[in-house]
Amino acid sequence: MEQDLSFIFNELGEERENYFNAVSPPIMQTSNFAFENISEMKMAFSDERKHSCYTRGKNPTVEILRKKVAALENAEDALIVSSGCAAISLSVLSCLKTGDHVVFVNNPYSWTNKLMTVILPRFGITADAVDGTDPENYRKAMKPNTKIFFMESPNSYTFELQDIESICNIAKENNITTIIDNSYATPLVQKPIDLGCDIVVHSATKYFSGHSDVVVGIIAGSHKKIDEIFHNEFMTIGSILSPNDAWLVIRGMRTMEIRMERIIKTTEKIVDFLSKHPLVDTIFYPFYEKSPQIDLAKKQMKSGTGLFSIKLKVDTLEQAEKFSNSLKRFLLAVSWGGYESLIMPSCVFYDPNKNQIPYDLVRLSIGLEDPNVLIEDLKQAFEQISI
Ligand SMILES: *Cc1c(COP(=O)(O)O)cnc(C)c1O
Repeated sequence: MEQDLSFIFNELGEERENYFNAVSPPIMQTSNFAFENISEMKMAFSDERKHSCYTRGKNPTVEILRKKVAALENAEDALIVSSGCAAISLSVLSCLKTGDHVVFVNNPYSWTNKLMTVILPRFGITADAVDGTDPENYRKAMKPNTKIFFMESPNSYTFELQDIESICNIAKENNITTIIDNSYATPLVQKPIDLGCDIVVHSATKYFSGHSDVVVGIIAGSHKKIDEIFHNEFMTIGSILSPNDAWLVIRGMRTMEIRMERIIKTTEKIVDFLSKHPLVDTIFYPFYEKSPQIDLAKKQMKSGTGLFSIKLKVDTLEQAEKFSNSLKRFLLAVSWGGYESLIMPSCVFYDPNKNQIPYDLVRLSIGLEDPNVLIEDLKQAFEQISI
């Protein structure tokens, strides 16, 4: 059954009778909560997830957000944390001890890569990256001590997909926990829990909040797993979201569905324009009709979103830089998923002596602007490099 998104965004978790029936919830800007008597305090200590006792454990404003995101992901339970990276680190750490092994997808988000290749080895944990376009690569990389299959589908720059259901099936046969970074798709477009995934993490900094004004992360999964993470990594590492920031995300999510609709439509128009442009060599977009993984995309996602990359047909670094410098309506910035359109060109990282990153890729994040304004802007930037 289709989800009642209006209910999730407008009603779920609000309990307005607790705050004068105010339509917009209060920001409970408090670190702790007082008790009437000893027995109430004892009860609160018995489970800090159930009772508001101290804001690191449970804050009523954050709680409203927590309930909404769990429902959106079709998850039994969820946690809100202070960033997408915190969501990734806490959930990965929760499954590991010294001597364990992780299989993760090639070219994940840069700080996920750091976690896998630098931080985990410090604690005697090994991690192998695999080409995730073939699920069998996860099986081949598996060892007796493998505890996690980590996915990011699509990934952050070239948008390769992993067949989530097949990879989760291999994991289940072998008692391995699956974790997926679902930031690109959002639960509106892809629901990994329904495909058999154990833990879903998000940078809710992107489409959930949608206004480029807050950094926030989500962990969603079963009651059992989320409870374990809460009582261990979540409470000890303490990377919580402030009530004020939680309020911003609740407010951002009121329009998440219509923002996504608009962004997806605009992106399809822009991809169509770019696919016909002579200075575009390749388009990396999961729902581009010529994408090599279009069938898999259609199988596990409802659509693409507003993030994709293009490979420019340019001969020099200068031309690539000139294209990006010529765009006026796209802001030159990291991150994505906000109301504003952005570009993140690879020429920023290009260093022929140090890395293999090409200089001719440009990642675009499409915002809420009039599609024609964005197309005109791209047109004039291409003109700058075709003369
Ligand atoms: C931005 C991003 C993250 C990190 O999220 P933060 O909220 O910035 O910590 C993780 N994964 C992906 C795919 C991202 O784009």
